[in-house]
Amino acid sequence: MNNFTYSMPTKLLVGAKSLINNSFLLKEYGEKALIVTGKYSSKVNGSLEDVIESLEKEDIKYTIFDSVEENPSTETVFNAYNENKEKDIDFIVAIGGGSPLDAAKAIGILFKNDIEIEDITKIPNLKSIPIIAIPTTAGTGSEATPYSILTFHDQKLKKNIGQRVFPKLAILDARYMINMPHSVTSSTALDAFTHLTEGYLNTNASILSDTLAEKGLKLFGEILPKLIEREYDINDREKMLLMSTLAGMVISQTGTSLPHAMGYSLTYENGLPHGTANIILYPGYLSIFKDKTKLKKLLSLIQVSSIDELAEKINKILDFEINLSKEEIERYTDIVFDNKGKLKNHPEVVTRDDIKHIYETMLTK
Ligand code: NAP
Ligand code: FE
Repeated sequence: MNNFTYSMPTKLLVGAKSLINNSFLLKEYGEKALIVTGKYSSKVNGSLEDVIESLEKEDIKYTIFDSVEENPSTETVFNAYNENKEKDIDFIVAIGGGSPLDAAKAIGILFKNDIEIEDITKIPNLKSIPIIAIPTTAGTGSEATPYSILTFHDQKLKKNIGQRVFPKLAILDARYMINMPHSVTSSTALDAFTHLTEGYLNTNASILSDTLAEKGLKLFGEILPKLIEREYDINDREKMLLMSTLAGMVISQTGTSLPHAMGYSLTYENGLPHGTANIILYPGYLSIFKDKTKLKKLLSLIQVSSIDELAEKINKILDFEINLSKEEIERYTDIVFDNKGKLKNHPEVVTRDDIKHIYETMLTK
């Protein structure tokens, strides 16, 4: 057995009304909170209302930054810090999908260290003020990962900032997702599936990460028919949320691999949602495995008999169109081939041609 370490320092509260019923826990983190969220969804799905009610109940003062965009930029992170740095903020409550959660981790680093945003990728091991994460999508698992993915417009790319900031507390309440449209539900659920898969078929996989991944993959197998029917009840939402947090716990240990490295350009340059960008590469990615032992186990866990059957199902779930040019394929391939950190997570040798071949077969007509 390989040597491995396992660390998951986030406390999880799971179930309906978890925040309101445990609001006393917020006191542990200080007297003044910054709420970090997106522009719209948290105001209508009940999550922001629950956070405000809980903070007021505990006499904790707060201020709100509600301008986090999808695929948050370093500029947004800086603005959130700059507008609030004189306000004695003790901790952050992040509400939303992966975008506000990831932005909050980077904002928390600026509060703790008072550094320039340009230095966030350069100085190693930066700490953050405490983050409380309330996911309102079931996809990224950011509430249980140490990662923060930001858009660097100056470098024309999206990347992990390379710091490790686990939220101190995560609240998993699926009621916030009940009215989520199919487009967001499917792209985010498929993102969680890609985390489970890339963590399972990964150089760093261990008996512990595999235990979590196998349970998450079983939940995905149960949810797959619902994603095709495009109808979800609260039980389905709870399953998707748990699957997504389990997937976050898996990639916290293993990292993601090839499709995530390949998908970032499709989001940055072609505007595909993060989960969609990864999953459309999957039939090509899964086909390059020479050792199929673990892949076969994975397919049986999600109750699918072959890669082709999985591809058919993905096509029924997603509505997308993309046709990359030769120039895009060459350029994106170079970016991925330079991302040695991700390539080493793939358990077999990957050549530049392998990557180019996946882009070509999946994304050209
Ligand atoms: P997102 O970008 O956070 O949100 C996508 C859209 O969904 C936004 O328009 C948002 O609206 C809306 N939305 C959020 N909650 C909703 C709800 N309950 N009902 C209806 N609409 C809702 O999407 P995401 O896929 O969760 O996050 C993607 C980001 O996370 C990417 O930047 C990706 O790279 C990153 N990521 C991070 C990790 C990690 O480990 N940290 C892992 C994978 C991906 P509002 O803007 O109005 O809120
Ligand atoms: Fe992802």
